[in-house]
This record gives sequence, C-alpha cells and structure tokens, in this order.
Amino acid sequence: MEQAYQLLEKVKENLKNELPNAVYKNTFEAIKQIHKVENGNIYLIVSNKLEVFRLSKLYLTKMNEYLCSVASEKMYFQFITSQDAEAEVKKMNTPILTTVDPSEKVIRERILRPEYTFDNFVTGISNREAFIFSMKVAESPHVTINPFYIFGDVGLGKTHLMMAIGHYILKNNVNTNIVYTTAQQFVEDYFKSKNKNQKNTNISDSFDKYYRSADVLLVDDIQYLADRQGSQDEFFKLFEYLFENNKQIIVTSDRKASELNIMDRLKSRFTWGMQVDVQKPNHELRKSILRNKLSTLIVNPNDVPDEVLEYIAVNFQENIRELEGALRRFVNYCVAFDIKYTLENAITSLESILPSERERNFEGSNRNIELVKSVVSSYFNINVKELSGSSRKQDIVYARSIAIYLIRTKYNIGLKKIGECLGNRDHATIAHAIDKIDYGIKNDECIRLDVNNIVDKLNK
Ligand code: ADP
Ligand code: MG
Repeated sequence: MEQAYQLLEKVKENLKNELPNAVYKNTFEAIKQIHKVENGNIYLIVSNKLEVFRLSKLYLTKMNEYLCSVASEKMYFQFITSQDAEAEVKKMNTPILTTVDPSEKVIRERILRPEYTFDNFVTGISNREAFIFSMKVAESPHVTINPFYIFGDVGLGKTHLMMAIGHYILKNNVNTNIVYTTAQQFVEDYFKSKNKNQKNTNISDSFDKYYRSADVLLVDDIQYLADRQGSQDEFFKLFEYLFENNKQIIVTSDRKASELNIMDRLKSRFTWGMQVDVQKPNHELRKSILRNKLSTLIVNPNDVPDEVLEYIAVNFQENIRELEGALRRFVNYCVAFDIKYTLENAITSLESILPSERERNFEGSNRNIELVKSVVSSYFNINVKELSGSSRKQDIVYARSIAIYLIRTKYNIGLKKIGECLGNRDHATIAHAIDKIDYGIKNDECIRLDVNNIVDKLNK
C-alpha cells in the first residue's frame, strides 16, 4: 500500500509538470486516497460517479502511461467513489465491527485485521505449539480450552494468532459474536461508562451489554490491567459471567499469568484453561516468514536473491514486526529509486535502522523524541507534559498516539525507548498505539490529514 502511495505521488508530479496549473489543481490535487491494491489495480478514491466518468474518459490513459513508466511491474489505476469504497469496507467488516458508543469519534480498532489469518501464519519450532492449540480452540470454541492464554514478547505473533482464531470461528459460523478489545480499550470503555453514570454506581448498560453479549471474547495485552484495581474487578465479573455461560475467552499477554501484576483470583482463572507461549523465531523461521511476506509485496519474489533475505534474517532477530518492516523498507526503497533488489541495496536501505545503529544514535534519538513531542503538542494545542501523563481523555490519547507513531516511523526509535520517554508506558501499549494510527491513516481521512500536517511541520 505504501508503495502504491509513492507511485501515485510520482504520477501526480508528472501530471503537474505537464498540465496547466488550474487543471491540475482542480482535478488531481484532491486525489490522495487509495482504497485498495488488488490484482495489479490501484483503486483511487474520488468524490462521485460523474468524477469517475470524467477522469476515466479524459485522463486515465495518460495516468496509466505514467504509472507504467514509474512502476517496476504492470499496474493500472482504477477509480472508485468514496461511497462505494466505504460500502465495500463495511461489507468486509460488518460481522466483526462493533463499537460501544457509535456517536463518538473512535478510531476503528475493534476489527479483526483481515490479514491476520491462520493461512498467513508461518510456523516453526518457536510457535508451533501455540499455533496447534490456537487451531484447536478455533475448531471447537468453549469446549476444550477455556480460557486460552497466549504469552510472549512483543512482535512475535500473539495478536495475529488471536485474530486468526476469531476469523476461523466466524468462517464456521458467521453469527458468532466475536468481541475483540485491547485491555487498554477495555479500561477506557470502563472509565467512560463510569463517568456517564457517576450518580449511579452501576456500570452503564451499554458497557455491560457490549461485553456480555460476546460469544468469544478476545482481550489483547492483558498485562495492561496491572495496578488498575477497578478495571480488574470489572473484568473479573465479566470473566465469571462469560465463563459460566460457556463462552470462549482468549487473552494475550507479555508474560506468564503467574507473573502478572494483578489480583490473585484473576490470575488463577487464567491458569484454568491452557497457557501457550510464542518465542523468538530462529533463523529458519525468520527466512520462511520473509519469503512468505515477499510474495505479498511483489509479483516476482524470485527477483530478490536469497542473500538479501539472509542478510535481513541475520540482522533483525528479535521481533517479527521489525523483520517484516525491514523487508518492506528494502522493497519500497528499490521501487522508489528504480534499482535492483541486490544485497548492496539492502545494506544501504537498511543501514539506518539496524538495531545496533539505533543504540549508537542514543543522543540523536532523545532529541528527535523531544522534537516530535513539542510539535505534536503545539499542533493539538495541549501541554507537552500531557503526552507523557496518564490522562485518558480522548483528544490527549489521540495526540499521544500520533506522537508515538511518528517517533517510531519517522525516526525509527525502539518501542522500549519510546515507552520510557512517554511516561514509562510498556512496549505493548506503544505497539498498540502505532497499529492504531497505522490503521487510521489507511482508513480515516482526518487522521491522515493530521499526520501529514505534523510531518510537514517536522520537516521544516
Ligand atoms: P504481538 O501481538 O505478539 O506483539 P503481532 O501479532 O502483532 O505481535 O505480530 C507482529 C507482526 O508480525 C504482524 O504483522 C504479524 O502478522 C507478523 N507475524 C508474527 N508472527 C508471524 C508468523 N508466524 N507468520 C507470519 N507473520 C507473523
Ligand atoms: Mg499484540
């Protein structure tokens, strides 16, 4: 997708040079959003049907000519109206998308990511057991293993597996109500409902209704409940309710249940079913994952020599998210500069993000973190201290997430370090904020605009 955005920008540049200024401005400036990339087609979102007709008639051939000259493989532009694009996204997400309070502007993070399926999960020694038991749970939910507890370090596939279970169950029975939440979101929902109901000590109806209606409850990064007594109590009640009603509960965590910093009775519940862990991938698995990912990024994966995958697998060992990120960066780099997929180019494109390089740049990274914090806080007109504070007000949480996203993606600073510089948040919280904005950028015009504006300011 990132690659498609780069191509669009290049084609627009060409059009800008060729067409009269007014024509370019009126017609092309507003084309910024890509709906999807499918079978070599890049679907551009435009406002209405008439615009689709007009653009196709007048400019599509020219645009595709330019696209051919900048893309490394055969690709075409197509147009789709924003209405049709939205309808398609809705259709894809309907059975899974749910929100507690649709009237609020929530970043839509409660969906199962479509690509997190069992089919896309590559197995090796380090995750085979977790995979097998996930399949078991998916095949017969709330029969054999309940609750199901997946733990391991960040970026090793916990969320992927948990969502894969959700997809599988839904495929078998579309009417299953799968409720996915992060523990952080659960806490936010709980506080929101409590605030609404301040006079009445009962938790508001919508909160209860939403969570208790689950046939399968997926709670990601449960360690976030540590030291949050009220939320733990509430989660405990929910757990009891669902368990007694034979509903499946699945949680993920960055540590074993016994090492969680939460109330004993909840800890002991987590050990009732089964605990499995995902460990760091070995070299062989890292390479399989890279090969698998490569086939989704380019049409001819064989164009990338094995020594490139070897180089990436050797240098990115700790975290599968980073491993994949490195591969994506390399591919984008070669496409953007129209150069071959060679080892030399891999070394150049990845030089600045090698984990060892990151450590060496310690001072620089502190400076960059402070820069992002100050630009983001002034953009949203909030106090810079609030970004590191504990406020869960929606606008602060949003600004904080964007700051985290930019520190990570623009300056490539490690999750742990970002967490330390933003109020000692744990790395899973940081990873979650990044995913949230990443998803938002692809699906929400307002979020994309905010991020772009801030990037412009950072570049000045
Ligand atoms: P965690 O929840 O443990 O932090 P995620 O599930 O978010 O990690 O995984 C991070 C990234 O790595 C995701 O893009 C995911 O698809 C990918 N990933 C992790 N494990 C595998 C695997 N075994 N096969 C393919 N992709 C994987
Ligand atoms: Mg996760």
